[in-house]
Amino acid sequence: MPEPLSPAALRELDRAHVWHPYGPMPGRQEPLVVESASGVRLRLAEPVHGHTELVDGMSSWWSAVHGYNHPVLNEAARGQLDRMSHVMFGGLTHEPAVRLAARLVEITPEPLRHVFLADSGSVSVEVAVKMCLQYWRSAGRPAKRRLLTWRGGYHGDTWQPMSVCDPEGGMHELWSGALPRQVFAAEPPAGYDSEPDPAYAAHVRELIERHADELAAVIVEPVVQGAGGMRFHSPGYLRVLREACDAYGVLLVFDEIATGFGRTGKLFAAEHAGVSPDVMCVGKALTGGYLTMAATLCTSEVADGISRGEVPVLAHGPTFMGNPLAASVACASIDLLLGQDWQQEVKRIEAGLNEGLAVARELPGVREVRVLGAIGVVQLDHEVDMAAATAAAVGEGVWLRPFRDLVYTMPPYVTGEDDVARICRAVCAAAREG
Ligand SMILES: *Cc1c(COP(=O)(O)O)cnc(C)c1O
Repeated sequence: MPEPLSPAALRELDRAHVWHPYGPMPGRQEPLVVESASGVRLRLAEPVHGHTELVDGMSSWWSAVHGYNHPVLNEAARGQLDRMSHVMFGGLTHEPAVRLAARLVEITPEPLRHVFLADSGSVSVEVAVKMCLQYWRSAGRPAKRRLLTWRGGYHGDTWQPMSVCDPEGGMHELWSGALPRQVFAAEPPAGYDSEPDPAYAAHVRELIERHADELAAVIVEPVVQGAGGMRFHSPGYLRVLREACDAYGVLLVFDEIATGFGRTGKLFAAEHAGVSPDVMCVGKALTGGYLTMAATLCTSEVADGISRGEVPVLAHGPTFMGNPLAASVACASIDLLLGQDWQQEVKRIEAGLNEGLAVARELPGVREVRVLGAIGVVQLDHEVDMAAATAAAVGEGVWLRPFRDLVYTMPPYVTGEDDVARICRAVCAAAREG
């Protein structure tokens, strides 16, 4: 083993060489050095604002639903490591990938039957788009190659996903001229509980009808728009999309990368509406936050359509496709989730967030507080001062990562009541100071 680096040396090398997400080079903010993580706690290499342990309010970007260093997931990874960590997937197959695919088909909405294992959420969206475009090309309709989405969305950072992210104020505005030009509907009206607005439904239906000849698919995040603004909408709009897509011959893609595996209170957000998409992406919590893996599922209609085409194959095959290590942990993570009363845990967290965040409504500068499932959001009336807000949360012993005008949390499902309360105090402190 090499000599461990001191936190100071590590930070210096980090600053000199390492890009961080959405960051400049060199970085302007000092990242905290994490030494290890266990349960819902991140252990820092040195005390920060008096804390060496932080309660994780972020689940490492929606993924670590069971917390860190979980014995069951560790065991799945260790067991698989001793057999093989990877083999190529072209011409070969193995139990972890087959089990995972079958399990995903079993737990996702009914007509989804086939699974493409991808190595990240963005790649699974690329694959979804490729499937949809190729479906129409194979059907002799090559002009159907644009996408429709509503504003306020986020679908990843590679090229096609960027083209369906919110085009304004988001992370990809810089590229608006260079990206494929997609069709954008207005943001879905806010509020999970609000009655669907007939005028908005008509607007979306009309756009789909008008562009039907050039649309391959509609792609949206169902019920919760994540990194595009943490907005919730009525599940009724998903039924509107399903009906319009069927009426005008357009495929429907649900990006459940953030919402999947229970985060919104249903196993998949599509279940809030009782609507099934033609293609669905999952990722993030798929491996319980252990390893990078995502999946694109499609119906037999889509797969058969592609197979009937002039080029009957889906030309996509990442080097690490079906990675056995990630697939094993994913299987274990799904079993762990479904083997417990996860709905009760998410409800418990939802209740804790509702209780603990209520006081944020009274804070100056707070525009709205909203909670759905294990997601709590405080929206400010100004751009958050990220450094001040993060420091305030750390002062409460909690890790948060606010962005734009949002201070939010989506804790691991194993977060106990006291820790949920502590996270809420930190969100309020961050909203006050940020
Ligand atoms: C995070 C996210 C992605 C991208 O996934 P990566 O694994 O970061 O590439 C796509 N869609 C949604 C809804 C996401 O939240």
